[in-house]
Amino acid sequence: MSTAAPTTVAAFDRIGDENAFAVLARAGALEAQGRDIINLGIGQPDFPTPPHIAEAAIKAIRDGHHGYTPAPGIAPLREAVATDIHRRLDVEIDPGCVLIVPGGKVSIFAAIMMFGEPGAEIMYPDPGFPIYRSMICFTGATPVPIPMREENGFAFDADEALAAITPRTRLIILNSPANPTGGVTPKEQLDTLALGLAEHPHVAVLSDEIYAQMTYDDLEHASPMTHEHLRDRVILLDGWSKTYAMTGWRLGYAVWPQALFDKARKLAVNAWSCVNAPTQYAGLAALEGPQDCVAEMMAAFDRRRNVIVECLNTLPGITCRKPSGAFYAFPNVTGTGRPAKALASDLLEVTGIATIAGPDFGPLGEGFIRFSYANSQANIERAMDRIGDYLTG
Ligand code: PLP
Repeated sequence: MSTAAPTTVAAFDRIGDENAFAVLARAGALEAQGRDIINLGIGQPDFPTPPHIAEAAIKAIRDGHHGYTPAPGIAPLREAVATDIHRRLDVEIDPGCVLIVPGGKVSIFAAIMMFGEPGAEIMYPDPGFPIYRSMICFTGATPVPIPMREENGFAFDADEALAAITPRTRLIILNSPANPTGGVTPKEQLDTLALGLAEHPHVAVLSDEIYAQMTYDDLEHASPMTHEHLRDRVILLDGWSKTYAMTGWRLGYAVWPQALFDKARKLAVNAWSCVNAPTQYAGLAALEGPQDCVAEMMAAFDRRRNVIVECLNTLPGITCRKPSGAFYAFPNVTGTGRPAKALASDLLEVTGIATIAGPDFGPLGEGFIRFSYANSQANIERAMDRIGDYLTG
């Protein structure tokens, strides 16, 4: 009998991880030991899902919606997504191109699987959501980072990205508002990109707009979807996780170009069949119901943003720009003289404050730490006091 263990394909040695989940687990373990942990690590709203949304799922179960749904999602939900996009972006899209999926991540997976292979290049933001690079490497494609610079407000620089395009570039990933920086790409940068992409018809765009409704100071969210000539190659990713405090429901969507939709649909049929039916009814209630829950949540995030940025800027060795979107502050911690990962680890182990080190979002995240301000103002203030004591003590 052979004692050799089964050998997996090489792709599984290249797949990465999302350290936010490891920090969440460690914070939970410390809490279980009786430690007082303040979690500024994980990126999920601390608000409950609005009751009318949760009730819609309960009603769906009572109404007998317990079977498979069509793989791309129930028709009224796909239509509601199209209506919502029209309301927000003033763009007409075909509900037939909307693929409802279990969470925002799934569309990242599908898009990168569709374009990534050895020899292909895929551009992605660094620092950026770690799943982009992980999935690019999984497919064997070459990851090409687009730097997001602090001095640029962590906004995307279209000229820099355009200059990095080669004949092998297959996909550019955009994310605005951005995780982990809170940076927002100004409309002019998208216009420049759109203009430049006319010269590169072989390049598709994945626009991760999961924080689209989370901008501050009346800043308008801009989407490449509004550029008519890009419509046959933009994949618009969004979902319910952040906007409606539904991270655990696992519900997202992408609007696919007509020519790509059926490929994505077949991936759904092969991998997950459909999103569970009650969750889809909850998503429908979210889009068709009152939107004040979103405005109220954003007003609270805005207050916390002001508090956390002001507090961070009083800490020795730390400077923080005001983020323009999402619910993350991404302060520069180089003045502490500590590498970001070591500092973030000490913040959790010594002070009980969970954060995510910048390098967990790519090499260009060195010197930064991500603080999620999806926590109460009182907890944010307590956290800042503790960090202040630690850094001065
Ligand atoms: N895209 C970005 C930029 C994110 O920050 C996240 C979650 O943190 C996702 C996608 C994934 O969202 P979901 O939890 O719905 O899979």
